[in-house]
Amino acid sequence: MTTPTTQPGNRLKTDPSILNSEAEPERPPLSTRVLARRVDEVPRSGIRRFFDILATMTDVISLGVGEPDFDTPPQVVEAGRHSLAQGRTHYASNYGTIELRRALAHHLERLYGVRYDPTEEILITVGGSEALDVAVRATLDPGDEVIMHEPSYVSYRPAVIFAGGVPVGVKTTIDEDFALDPAKVEAAITPRTKALLLNYPCNPTGAVLPPEVQDEIARIAVRHDLLVYTDEIYDRLVYNGYQMRAMAALPGMRRRTVTMGSFSKAYAMTGWRVGYVCAPSEILEGILKVHQYVIMSAATAAQDAALEALKSGEPDIARMVGQYDRRRRLLVDGFNEIGLRCFEPRGAFYAFPQITSTGLTSDQFAEQLLREESVAVVPGTAFGEAGEGHVRCCYATSEAELKEALVRIGRFVARRKGAA
Ligand code: PLP
Repeated sequence: MTTPTTQPGNRLKTDPSILNSEAEPERPPLSTRVLARRVDEVPRSGIRRFFDILATMTDVISLGVGEPDFDTPPQVVEAGRHSLAQGRTHYASNYGTIELRRALAHHLERLYGVRYDPTEEILITVGGSEALDVAVRATLDPGDEVIMHEPSYVSYRPAVIFAGGVPVGVKTTIDEDFALDPAKVEAAITPRTKALLLNYPCNPTGAVLPPEVQDEIARIAVRHDLLVYTDEIYDRLVYNGYQMRAMAALPGMRRRTVTMGSFSKAYAMTGWRVGYVCAPSEILEGILKVHQYVIMSAATAAQDAALEALKSGEPDIARMVGQYDRRRRLLVDGFNEIGLRCFEPRGAFYAFPQITSTGLTSDQFAEQLLREESVAVVPGTAFGEAGEGHVRCCYATSEAELKEALVRIGRFVARRKGAA
């Protein structure tokens, strides 16, 4: 007598239902399972919805998009043009051009006292966006937890989820000037915590980390042996005497820190798509591997333009920061006068006023303001639930537009308060 068996080779003989393909267990149709679960679970960017509405309107003042209103400095554009004219139209090294890496190593050492070996500790990426993606993909295993402050930049949660990790938000509030509370960070640590993800100066709040808080967070990372991803894309846009210190420069941090940066904001180069990652060679080697197979190299001419930005862009940064600073004061004072509480952002180019006094949610405020007064702002919830009760306003726009936006927002708020 034959014994029924479940060994794969014998299934046809012993399980008659297998002979009839219609009896196979039903799978849901492809249309309902075509996207990977980790992609499906990530919502579309909350910012996009407003841009869709905005695209249908005219005479809109946009405080929505987070990019400089300045064009790239002319000598930087010229360097890019010259590069193309010289036939620099080929792949660069996977790491990026050695000239740019050397200049960047020098620049970071001069500004922050952190030394990276340009031959194996710096990778040039396609913007800070790619830097984030390759950094988390190279270092996270499925289920690894990453603690991040919230509200935070829209891409952080998705990037961690796409990499198989688990984002763990730590709420920051206006009452603590949106600085991360070290005690809350420590309380969020579990045996699965692999890393912290920091972004100071912060998008969307404009917050910076007071030095004593930054020191304490570094001590926590060392004590719990955590990796730290630090997105320092706004490092050059700081105001009112704030002194930026690189996370990697703090005691015990260099060997556990992955620094991400970009030319996009400080040099008004968003469209060129040049960023970078710096990390100890053992870590960078893994990050390079992901970059190498997925991207190969950032555009060569764009890297040549970025090199020129490092060489000659300091006066341009000073000029733009001076203007952002004036606009920052105008907007923050304006919001407080209107009755929207706004703490003083000391970095980036965003104000993050509280709008709860209007009785509206962030979403309602942004949508109604756009429809009634043609001013685009981004609801705080686009940056996580912790952003509820706030809207993000980018002040990288002309003073004239900011003044007009304040008049319109003032009218809108007065109507809401009058109705309450
Ligand atoms: N990180 C932060 C905090 C940002 O605000 C942005 C852009 O807004 C990026 C990264 C991505 O910048 P890019 O890819 O243009 O360098």
